[in-house]
Amino acid sequence: MALTLIDISYLLVTRGTAQYGGEAVSQLEHALQCAHLAELAGETPEVVTAALLHDIGHLLAPDGGAAGRVSRDGLHQYVALPFLRALLPTAVLEPVRLHVDAKRYLCAGERGYQDALSPASQHSLELQGGAYSAEEAAQFVAQPFAHESIRLRRYDDAAKVAGRSTPPFVHFMRTLATVTARHALARQMPAASPA
Ligand code: FE
Repeated sequence: MALTLIDISYLLVTRGTAQYGGEAVSQLEHALQCAHLAELAGETPEVVTAALLHDIGHLLAPDGGAAGRVSRDGLHQYVALPFLRALLPTAVLEPVRLHVDAKRYLCAGERGYQDALSPASQHSLELQGGAYSAEEAAQFVAQPFAHESIRLRRYDDAAKVAGRSTPPFVHFMRTLATVTARHALARQMPAASPA
């Protein structure tokens, strides 16, 4: 069930050639642009990795994130989690899990945000339950990693520009490898005992 780094690379470079929903970029171009925007913003390697992998649930679906208008929510933000849990820390998993809810939050509270979404993202918003109520928004933003997921959401929304240049895939695989190595080490270290 758990993916390895090689599995993730394989998924991104093979299934990643599929168009990203109804957008003008492929899944891989979208992932690279999203990770690049996070990196340019000075995010941690964990948030950059979340940006790279936030939509990998689409690539794990049986249709491989095929292009075209869909009529149901594939819940891609949850699909990925069991495959990534052994490899990555909460600081990556939670922004991935919350990035759709972050869209619902921003639609509720930020004037003009919903209207500025791409047509494909507006369509998926409907399938995902639409804008949050004020109460739902307050609950959402009180969660750990809500703010990381909101920032990720903004990179996600901006990472749909046809032809935009980014560092190559291998650049972000290095970041991913660093984060996974750090996580593996942390899991092996005994918890620090109090002084
Ligand atoms: Fe996305």
